[in-house]
Amino acid sequence: MSAPPQQIAPAPQGSALRPCPDCGGKDLVALPRCSRDEWQVCRCGDCGFVFLGNPIEYAALEEDFAWETTFWAEDARRAGARGPLRRLAARVRGLGYRLRGDGIMRRYHRLLGPGRILDIGCGDVVRFDAPFVPHGIELSRALAAKADAIMRARGGECLQGPGAERIFDWPEGYFDSVMMHSYLEHETDYPRLLAGCLRALRPGGRAFIRVPNFAALNRMASGNRWAGFRYPDHVNYFTPATLRRAVERAGFHFKLVNRHKIWLDDNIQALAIKPAQT
Ligand SMILES: [Zn+2]
Repeated sequence: MSAPPQQIAPAPQGSALRPCPDCGGKDLVALPRCSRDEWQVCRCGDCGFVFLGNPIEYAALEEDFAWETTFWAEDARRAGARGPLRRLAARVRGLGYRLRGDGIMRRYHRLLGPGRILDIGCGDVVRFDAPFVPHGIELSRALAAKADAIMRARGGECLQGPGAERIFDWPEGYFDSVMMHSYLEHETDYPRLLAGCLRALRPGGRAFIRVPNFAALNRMASGNRWAGFRYPDHVNYFTPATLRRAVERAGFHFKLVNRHKIWLDDNIQALAIKPAQT
């Protein structure tokens, strides 16, 4: 049995916990089974959105908590928590991903079409080649510099900084598609980021979104050991319903890509499609 949720609502003025990023609500319910160390995951009592109540500042993420720094510590922790069979399964999965590399690119091409693509939170991995023209935004200074060099050689560029700010540096309607693969769960100001995506896409342009699925049965069974939890990097925990709400409110059409057995899937994959006429 899980511990009953602990009420901390309403968050007092000046509290370390932020208001709900989705609705601004301050009635928060602590979720101790989803939290770890000092990192407090809460549910909004008004709209039901689940998020990290005490994220760290962007400035720290640029250096001290940069993804490439925390990634290996998290990876080691998870490897230790896995048994030998789980480790073997992870290796086989990794090999499969490498063998299917071309197939994944064809899949993105089918979902998004060719042209200028913006990969938000790209790290230093430039996964797009012709017929895509790769562009990126990356918070980590070190990774952004590496990605920029590669993207410039392919006709694009990578800007360093928070996605919700830098996306406004490109002209309106500039991109044919946007990739947010394992990104939106990191973005504290995701409503502004989605507004920026709508603006940056051409009419009919598409954004692909992949985020951990907080509604997955596996999450409910795994407590805070669920693979979708990453402290403190992941600051939003979407369900298919809360993702749809955020995407449609931003002005997109929403399409769930992996709707088959979504409750068994640890991730949500969806398309946000900008209406042809706005
Ligand atoms: Zn809310």
